[in-house]
Amino acid sequence: MIHVVGAGLAGLAAAVRLVQRGQPVALYEAAQQAGGRCRSFFDRALGRVIDNGNHLLVSGNRSALAYLDALGAADSLIGPRDAIFPFLDLASGERWVVRPNRGPLPIWLLLPGRRVPGTRLGGYLASWRLARADDRHNVADCLCTDDLLWRRFWSPLATAVLNTPPKTGSARLLWAALRESFAHGAAGCRPLIARTSLAASLVDPALQFLHRHRVQLAFGQRLRAVRLEDRQVRSLDFGQRGIELGAGDRVILALPPAQAAALLPELTAPDASHSIVNGHFRLAHPVRLPGGSVLLGLVGGTAEWLFVRDELVSLTVSAADALADEPSEAIAAHLWADTAAALGLPATPQPPARIVKERRATFAQTPEQVARRPPAATRWANLFLAGDWTATGLPATIEGAIRSGNVAADLAVKQSETKAR
Ligand SMILES: Cc1cc2nc3c(=O)[nH]c(=O)nc-3n(C[C@H](O)[C@H](O)[C@H](O)COP(=O)(O)OP(=O)(O)OC[C@H]3O[C@@H](n4cnc5c(N)ncnc54)[C@H](O)[C@@H]3O)c2cc1C
Repeated sequence: MIHVVGAGLAGLAAAVRLVQRGQPVALYEAAQQAGGRCRSFFDRALGRVIDNGNHLLVSGNRSALAYLDALGAADSLIGPRDAIFPFLDLASGERWVVRPNRGPLPIWLLLPGRRVPGTRLGGYLASWRLARADDRHNVADCLCTDDLLWRRFWSPLATAVLNTPPKTGSARLLWAALRESFAHGAAGCRPLIARTSLAASLVDPALQFLHRHRVQLAFGQRLRAVRLEDRQVRSLDFGQRGIELGAGDRVILALPPAQAAALLPELTAPDASHSIVNGHFRLAHPVRLPGGSVLLGLVGGTAEWLFVRDELVSLTVSAADALADEPSEAIAAHLWADTAAALGLPATPQPPARIVKERRATFAQTPEQVARRPPAATRWANLFLAGDWTATGLPATIEGAIRSGNVAADLAVKQSETKAR
């Protein structure tokens, strides 16, 4: 049996992969619902299901798309037909659309109408310095951080990708995200969001798949201790319930870094994090953005990105530690001001709102913290780690979480095959 602990996307991906590889699986989750940091819930104030926060995928997220495909949920994502990123500078009122061309040659950079107004080709080409960055470099070591291109493109992009104050973020990780998206042209960076909710796209189809394959799913099961002996996990302690492991049993811990480190004191893991704040507003009518876009980049306001889904408008502020300390009513007022300006709506009255503060949204993706990411294999032969904070080489994202689950599952299967020989 392979015991997977944690039913966020990393744990779900691991469990799905193990089933696909014919392994018996049990999945345990502390909460009463799956999804972890990528979840949906019914909100009374808004009278509808909302997500804890906007989650953007792009067409280059190959592991996430393969996961959805395996679950029959690939068509649950929506997005524009082309790779378009509309922006608004709230200070000047200027609007523009970043439109990468098809194919990997970045011809769009030569066409002023497709790039950020007022910027020059050279500023984009400087991104080659990100490609050559090593583990110690942060974004400010590689890019000019006091020009218009920084303010209107690199800063909102790096803040969103790394959920870290952009100058201090890891240049390597930012490049890893660009390499798998923008570097493939429009084919790699078409923006995608869940059509109805994160749960309906990324979580419920996985639970249905696991039910169909008779996987034991146990909610409300918080792992409290792990007994380790002779380089092996011997037992799992869930409080009311204890599980003794047999010779062929393996464990995948797919927990957030702080919880994994508390259970495994010898583990080195990222130990700093940043918040993400999301504000959701339910308008009286559905909202449409030009070109069928699902998001709008905002410069010079509180939020960096505004997303629309029917009559729901949701704004994201990443690296939002200071904002998260403000009362929700004050945050709602800031974010509604951005929304009203962006959509040309009257500033009053403010419609029903919900502010969601995720205090530990992701680990702080600085070079120092990235150096603390552990690999999936551990010094305990039957124990593997998964999670967006493990050493995936990618930022802490859905793509990274799913890839980490796949890697941990494959290692667990390989170990049992090696043992059987
Ligand atoms: C607001 C917000 C916005 C985001 N936006 C984006 C985005 O736009 N694009 C993107 O790609 N990514 C985004 N992310 C990141 C993405 O959500 C995460 O990378 C991903 O969900 C992490 O999954 P995980 O399985 O690694 O961890 P988690 O989701 O944290 O899963 C860990 C699970 O373990 C459970 N658990 C904890 N302790 C125990 C225990 N002791 N015993 C049993 N279970 C336990 C938890 O309840 C949880 O379900 C965002 C995250 C947030 C919070």
